[in-house]
Amino acid sequence: MKSFPPYRIQVVKEIPITTRQEREEVLARAAYNGFDVPANKVTIDLLTDSGTGAPSAAQEAAAAGADRSYAGSDSYYRFREIVGELTGHPHVLPVHQGRAAERVLFGAVLGPGRISLSNTHFDTTRANVELTGGEARDLPCPEARDLDSLDPFKGNIDLGELERTLAGPDGARVAQVLITITNNGGGGQPVSMANLESVRRMCDRFGVPFFLDAARFAENAWLVTQREPGYEQQTPREVARRTFRMADGCVTSLKKDGIAPMGAFIALRDADLAQRCEANLIATEGFRTYGGLTGHDLERVAQGLREVLDPNYLGARTAETAHLAELINEAGVDTVQPPGIHALYLNAGRLLPHIPAHGFPGHALACELYLAGGIRCAELGSLYLGEFDAAHNLVAPAPFELVRLAIPRRTYTQSHLEYVADVLSAIAKNPEQVPEYRVVDAPPVLRHFNLRMRRLPANR
Ligand SMILES: *Cc1c(COP(=O)(O)O)cnc(C)c1O
Repeated sequence: MKSFPPYRIQVVKEIPITTRQEREEVLARAAYNGFDVPANKVTIDLLTDSGTGAPSAAQEAAAAGADRSYAGSDSYYRFREIVGELTGHPHVLPVHQGRAAERVLFGAVLGPGRISLSNTHFDTTRANVELTGGEARDLPCPEARDLDSLDPFKGNIDLGELERTLAGPDGARVAQVLITITNNGGGGQPVSMANLESVRRMCDRFGVPFFLDAARFAENAWLVTQREPGYEQQTPREVARRTFRMADGCVTSLKKDGIAPMGAFIALRDADLAQRCEANLIATEGFRTYGGLTGHDLERVAQGLREVLDPNYLGARTAETAHLAELINEAGVDTVQPPGIHALYLNAGRLLPHIPAHGFPGHALACELYLAGGIRCAELGSLYLGEFDAAHNLVAPAPFELVRLAIPRRTYTQSHLEYVADVLSAIAKNPEQVPEYRVVDAPPVLRHFNLRMRRLPANR
């Protein structure tokens, strides 16, 4: 039986329909940088799944009843109860979004010379490690390097490398192991319970705290029930509860699996560490019972956390992404395998072999999707991850040239996604006519947000 989303659409928002001529002008004005395209010129926005999910009637109803008290609001107690039940941790601190959670926790745990080990640090996570003076090291498992491999848990950390690092000369400087579930920087691939259990044992052996970056904890839990032997009979809620309890704490953006426009939390087992985080929180985010969030936000995320572990919802969302992957693959465009849930990663390097790394195949494909169909998405290739010299020449390309199609939660229907596949298949029929791009100007930090590019003439 085909799965279907366990909700009906009750409030809708119109989406902009534009002409190719208009899009050509808009993109040229934005210097071929999708981040500078106004959202009202985007038809299908697959830039991110963060803060873009559709709220439920129950979330909006809860928000309407929010308590805005500065200290000890009802909304906080409802939020704390659900987060405590989910994570098992006694200390729960709300913060305005995931990166604030990172800044507060890492400020208390890391510092100059200290090392954070991870399956892959997300970009803001890495930045917050480095802002403390610490060093972020990624140790992805070897299967992650083969984009076509169907290995079910390509988000895992490399346990051999982890052990060698902890036992090696730098071991004493390791201040945390941080596992990102699902592994967003690594193709949205899940981490297995077996891998997490080994990390737990190793952290105990070496006396290092183990934290989760749990932005997509529900999607990871669902993939465990689908892919890991021994978990077939468990509910995603049972798996998620077990996952959180394995770690000493977590930073969790709620803009993803909280299905909310804003929000995050830190949950911790250790009272001492929680107290140090709280002092920083009060100074920079807000009092400990709101942490930079309004009562409305606290209510929305509390209700979102109740809804997100519904197996019917997770199953339907997974099927939607898998269906899009199938259509795209049939059209001759390869995606990172196996498909995850929150995004598909297109192998632009393979689709556009005529474009060298310094012509940015991922960026070229992302621009083409916008020009051809008003679809916005993000490059994850040499433009984002490569190294450049002062004259903006690419000196070290990224290992892969990918484009991420992120799928917002409960926002687009199957026909929207089929439209995306149609636009992509039309491009894939004539890939050699997709032109190259060059960097005109780029700032030294956060390059991809502020780029200016130019397009070379098409090769027709
Ligand atoms: C989005 C994200 C963050 C940062 O969260 P924000 O709420 O956007 O600040 C951290 N880690 C991962 C894995 C993420 O996907």
